[in-house]
Amino acid sequence: MENCIFCKILAGEIPSSKVYEDDEILIFKDINPIARVHLLCIPKEHYATVAQLDPARSAVLGRAFEKIGRLAPTLGLADGYRLVMNQGESAGQTVHHLHIHILGGEPLPWGK
Ligand code: AMP
Ligand code: ZN
Repeated sequence: MENCIFCKILAGEIPSSKVYEDDEILIFKDINPIARVHLLCIPKEHYATVAQLDPARSAVLGRAFEKIGRLAPTLGLADGYRLVMNQGESAGQTVHHLHIHILGGEPLPWGK
């Protein structure tokens, strides 16, 4: 997808700090971290929100969550972490390529 920052990262056109990659997903460091550990997990296929899920995309997303759960202890997240998915403008979604924020590495305050 043209003009998508995350598609450009996937294409290697913008550098990123990669943490994990396979043929379906990429996990990399957020450039503007809001927690001591702040990673982003993205599907390699471009779509914006869960409103565009279909069975194939859901299966990839399920495997992404499974992978996050398996990798978390190796990523400084053994004490717990938060997964956040902003959906749309009002929720603060700025990059319209579906992504899971992985936040942790410290106690996280709860709020909206
Ligand atoms: P959201 O506001 O939920 O759409 O989250 C987008 C996230 O992408 C923000 O936390 C940004 O800091 C992050 N971000 C934007 N550009 C880059 C980049 N080039 N590399 C890594 N993270 C980025
Ligand atoms: Zn994209």
